[in-house]
Amino acid sequence: MKKHNFNAGPSILPREVIEKTAEAVLNFNGIGLSILEISHRTKDFEAVIDEAAVLFKELLDIPSGYSVLFLGGGASLQFCMVPYNLMEKKAAYLNTGTWASKALKEARAFGEAVEVASSKEANFNFIPKNYTVPQDADYFHITTNNTIFGTEIHKDLDSPVTLVADMSSDIFSRPVDVSKYGLIYGGAQKNLAPAGVTFVIVKDEILGKVSRHIPTMLDYRTHIAENSMFNTPPVLPIYSAMETLRWLKSIGGLKEMEKRNIAKAKLLYDEIDRNRLFVGTAKEEDRSLMNICFVMKPEYQALEGDFLKFAQSNGMVGLKGHRSVGGFRASTYNALPIESVQALVDCMKEFEKAN
Ligand SMILES: *Cc1c(COP(=O)(O)O)cnc(C)c1O
Repeated sequence: MKKHNFNAGPSILPREVIEKTAEAVLNFNGIGLSILEISHRTKDFEAVIDEAAVLFKELLDIPSGYSVLFLGGGASLQFCMVPYNLMEKKAAYLNTGTWASKALKEARAFGEAVEVASSKEANFNFIPKNYTVPQDADYFHITTNNTIFGTEIHKDLDSPVTLVADMSSDIFSRPVDVSKYGLIYGGAQKNLAPAGVTFVIVKDEILGKVSRHIPTMLDYRTHIAENSMFNTPPVLPIYSAMETLRWLKSIGGLKEMEKRNIAKAKLLYDEIDRNRLFVGTAKEEDRSLMNICFVMKPEYQALEGDFLKFAQSNGMVGLKGHRSVGGFRASTYNALPIESVQALVDCMKEFEKAN
């Protein structure tokens, strides 16, 4: 049976990216060797990392003066690298979920990390809007898409200080005005590549301003100077990322991607709102286009397990909600085709009829 992959992360990748990666594992560029068994300092691999960086710049329209890095350690290491490199005394954080809370907690080890607002009291079901970012903060940190709670900041914010964003789960889902950000980072395993590589887009001029000593591996300037090759980079995930970026370009870039993502999300949210059995958990204006969270209405709560089983028997994978929200989460990342969303909607309709 056809599987419809709604996994939250690691998650669906375009089929052709997986096929091209498999090919490179067997016989990279026709050289008769696997990409797994050659030096990262070969011309063949340098071309991969260079093309990946060029496609990053092209697809996101990154202005000059920014560097694109491919690092290890996951988005979680960035929770520490960001304050290490950017916080002298004080930084501001918008607390919109589990990942934002972890970033904030890590920053507290480096100085005064101010929580400007939080939606924790409402189980993070909305994005706070009225808050003040202190003018003397070294940066303001946001999480643009809250993977667990299904909320998203849909616009590039204006910030009075350097804006830093965790875009792990919505990078490349829409065009971004990179010039409004000082630094953007994310783990690749939601919307870009297999687990193992972390991307960082950083405005060069914001670096070198803190007085603390930064260990070599944690200093962004090390990786800028060495073109992400100070040490051995995560070779295979970078290869897959390059193929995903080629795929994004081939379908028409981020405007087209955004159009498709809006259409997919609308299809599912419309059904959640129409269907007698289900209700969405996120406040409407903040609903994520990438992670769509919904639960059974209280009077139908007993049907939750039955619906999961029914959906599974129809090929749906990864629909169980995160334990902190419960219910269901359909991740509708870039690579998920609208046909899979339609299949889920059909399941929901059928289940409503039977109950
Ligand atoms: C998954 C996720 C992370 C954690 O990423 P790792 O690469 O596993 O450290 C951080 N932030 C967001 C928004 C995520 O979705």
